[in-house]
Amino acid sequence: MILAPEEGASAELVNSGGTAPICLVCEHASAFIPASLDGLGLAEADRFSHAVWDIGAGALARRMAERLDAPLVAARLSRLVYDCNRPPEAPDAMPEKSELVEAPGNHDLSPEARAARVSEVYAPFQALLAATLDRFEIPPALVTIHSFSPTWFGVPRELDIGLLHDADDRLAKRLLAVAEPGLRIALNAPYSAADGVTHTLAAHAVPRGLQNVMIEVRSDLIEDEAGVDRIAGALCRMLGAALLPGNGKDAA
Ligand SMILES: [Zn+2]
Repeated sequence: MILAPEEGASAELVNSGGTAPICLVCEHASAFIPASLDGLGLAEADRFSHAVWDIGAGALARRMAERLDAPLVAARLSRLVYDCNRPPEAPDAMPEKSELVEAPGNHDLSPEARAARVSEVYAPFQALLAATLDRFEIPPALVTIHSFSPTWFGVPRELDIGLLHDADDRLAKRLLAVAEPGLRIALNAPYSAADGVTHTLAAHAVPRGLQNVMIEVRSDLIEDEAGVDRIAGALCRMLGAALLPGNGKDAA
């Protein structure tokens, strides 16, 4: 077993009674690595780096869940244990290296070790998200919350917020149209579906016909409470203005 019983589940539902027709998701919310994996052999300096989790994203997603009164499905384990926004066959579902960070505990994983990560981490996360979506009376919007590092291999990223979409671009484009002034917001940046980063949207929102978007925030904007408040406020206002009523299905 990867997770000891006292370490809890691989995924959690926050604000389960939320009444907004929005389901928030944060696949990279946690830096937790179960004791059985011995820190994945990470260097001390890397232990809470962006390779391990999306810095600030969990706090931002929780704040948005409060403001919107929406449920939030969040991963409770580091993406280096299993990246819940990747299918099991993706090469970076259990990455040996992320940008410059080596994860020795992921080197040469046996098929059995990979299967255990899938069944103990990925599958319960997928099941919790599916069950949460099934509970809505009105088809919800599915909104995933992520953060990206201010630099990539040393080069600054000149962007505050990215709005990414998979096959359904309705909500991403509507959000872009109501972008708050003072924020540099772009479509499909700093990544896009072509980079294999829209698994949750493709697996859960597109087949259900749910409006959906993946929101990427530069992590230095959400590294303290004031920043989290500011960005949560901006994103919640934008979502309020951009969401299609009844998920667009009852629109004339
Ligand atoms: Zn992420």
